[in-house]
Amino acid sequence: KAKEAGRARMTLYDPSMDADREQRNALELDLRIAIESGDLTLAYQPLVDAATQALTGVEALVRWNRPGHGPVSPEVFIPIAETSGLIESLGLFVLRKACETAKQWPELNVSVNVSPGQFRNPAFTDYVRYVLKQTEIEASRITLEITEGYMIQNPQRTRQSIERLKGLGVKVALDDFGSGFSSIGYLRQFGFDRIKIDRSLVMGVNEDKRQREMLQATVALARSLDIPVTAEGIETEGQAVAMRLFGCDCLQGYLFGKPMVAEQITDMLNELRAAEPSTRRRLGAA
Ligand code: C2E
Ligand code: MG
Ligand code: MG
Ligand code: MG
Repeated sequence: KAKEAGRARMTLYDPSMDADREQRNALELDLRIAIESGDLTLAYQPLVDAATQALTGVEALVRWNRPGHGPVSPEVFIPIAETSGLIESLGLFVLRKACETAKQWPELNVSVNVSPGQFRNPAFTDYVRYVLKQTEIEASRITLEITEGYMIQNPQRTRQSIERLKGLGVKVALDDFGSGFSSIGYLRQFGFDRIKIDRSLVMGVNEDKRQREMLQATVALARSLDIPVTAEGIETEGQAVAMRLFGCDCLQGYLFGKPMVAEQITDMLNELRAAEPSTRRRLGAA
């Protein structure tokens, strides 16, 4: 008891907490400036067909090179954007930029991450509709990726939001499946167009027998519900072979390409377009 009280007091008066808060505030301020002055950029990571390894789409991933500090991971600044009210303008930037850029790649699908803070906003569907109209992108080429955190707390509202979004013609995917509390039971009830198996599960596919079996069962179950499955974080041929064997139709990971600037995706496409017809036929939507 005494020990506990001591610990509590230490936490209360810990001066390093002030330092933490100060650092966080500075980061938040810099992020606000970055959003306002258009200093965020997008990287695009290839998504490939599991059978042919043809490029079928890209996932847009936000990047921030913080002045005087270097690159900051989205895993660090997205949660800060969420709690500081910046997520809406950040999300709007990402969606608009991804849709604009995607117009140069008519044969590709484009996935955009949506965080719970955006998804929770009742106006979210309206702004997706607005961006689709403004950028004149074909809605069916856009996939919005959401994680499960929020949906478990608000299943009813989540279902409605997903329905409204699908009504716009966009697709909705469940991201990072298997990393948290996701239940396979949710898959059917929410009407996801796709699930993405989290990298933490894919990593051990050829090392851990039980993990392999669980993965196999998960993909099989999704497929029995007619939901296509993407495996993320593929780094080795062995992982690619296994995930394809289990029934994933789409693969993503460093093996096929790291997140890259838009020009590099354009170059990849130009190479494929210039290639002989037999290769060209392997191009995703063509
Ligand atoms: P995510 O949506 O699951 O994106 C996949 C992450 O895994 C990306 O990290 C990607 O670079 C990384 N990755 C892909 N393949 C491999 C691989 O083979 N090996 C390894 N080690 N990593 C791989 P990133 O770009 O750092 O993004 C992290 C997370 O931040 C994303 O996870 C997503 O949840 C969030 N995020 C990124 N961009 C956005 C955005 O524009 N909006 C929102 N709301 N969240 C975003
Ligand atoms: Mg994602
Ligand atoms: Mg993911
Ligand atoms: Mg992730």
